[in-house]
Amino acid sequence: MTITISSPLLAGIEAGGTKFVCIVRTGPDDIRAETRFPTTTPTETLARTVAFLHEAQAQHGALAAIGVASFGPIDLNPSSPTYGFITNTPKSGWSQTDFVGALRKHFSQPIAFDTDVNGAALGEGRWGAAQGLDTFIYLTIGTGIGGGGLMRGRLMHGLVHPEMGHTLLRRNPERDPFSGTCPFHEDCLEGLAAGPAIAARWGAPAETLPPDHPAWNLEADYLAQALHAFICTLSPQRIIMGGGVMNQQHLFPRIRKRVQRLLNGYIQHEALRSEIDSYIVPPGLGSRAGVLGALALAARALA
Ligand code: ADP
Ligand code: ZN
Repeated sequence: MTITISSPLLAGIEAGGTKFVCIVRTGPDDIRAETRFPTTTPTETLARTVAFLHEAQAQHGALAAIGVASFGPIDLNPSSPTYGFITNTPKSGWSQTDFVGALRKHFSQPIAFDTDVNGAALGEGRWGAAQGLDTFIYLTIGTGIGGGGLMRGRLMHGLVHPEMGHTLLRRNPERDPFSGTCPFHEDCLEGLAAGPAIAARWGAPAETLPPDHPAWNLEADYLAQALHAFICTLSPQRIIMGGGVMNQQHLFPRIRKRVQRLLNGYIQHEALRSEIDSYIVPPGLGSRAGVLGALALAARALA
């Protein structure tokens, strides 16, 4: 006797400030359709998203659910009149964009909407570097810095959603006179350590700086300070670090060493001592964490 398990057809939309990636698939190894396009105006970008989903349905059958993992800030409160909106984003033209509403006009399926980093965390929990854990965080260090995660198996939502990228750090102005790029806080984590901050401080794109450039020890210092704060406040079982800047693999050992130095043995757990190499890690899903995370959001919407 053959038992056939038919997986539902799900769509995942990774909505980034630079590009959108959309996939339709039934499971992690069965992609049916995929596309990517640059993030231009909301009207044009959302129209391309809708067109992709229509086309995918025409070819592969009805979608069961749609997951959106979006840049933010976003409104996640289901009882808010602006639920599903991208709210006061610094991304030009996108402030107060009704993202879910634009999809809802065309699709009646469940639509899950969350931050890009909460989505990536969910995907990492399901298929990547956080399998088997229930409390962990996912950070992206890219054009901006964001963090999301799960706490006892639930996505981190609260008043709004976490804004870990805007954590305040200690900056020594003698060592680092660069005052920071954040329009709200200047020298918060994102203002000091995101890709554009590195480029502005050193006068060259981050990806062109060699591993022995002083930029990287400073970068590791700032990221380690932030991780220290997150470890002390959230007690994550693992920290996953992705995004363009973390392509600099040499940052991982530097960050781990500094986190241990900052914690100074206070938190008694082997994860922070002999097992630190498997505590602060790159995404198991690599650069696919975002879009697979959107798919994981869709799967969760069905469940
Ligand atoms: P986004 O955050 O826009 O989704 P990324 O995660 O790719 O996109 O981040 C882009 C940022 O990462 C840019 O500021 C870029 O300079 C930086 N970046 C990309 N690749 C590298 C690299 N190999 N090394 C260091 N920085 C990088
Ligand atoms: Zn800030």
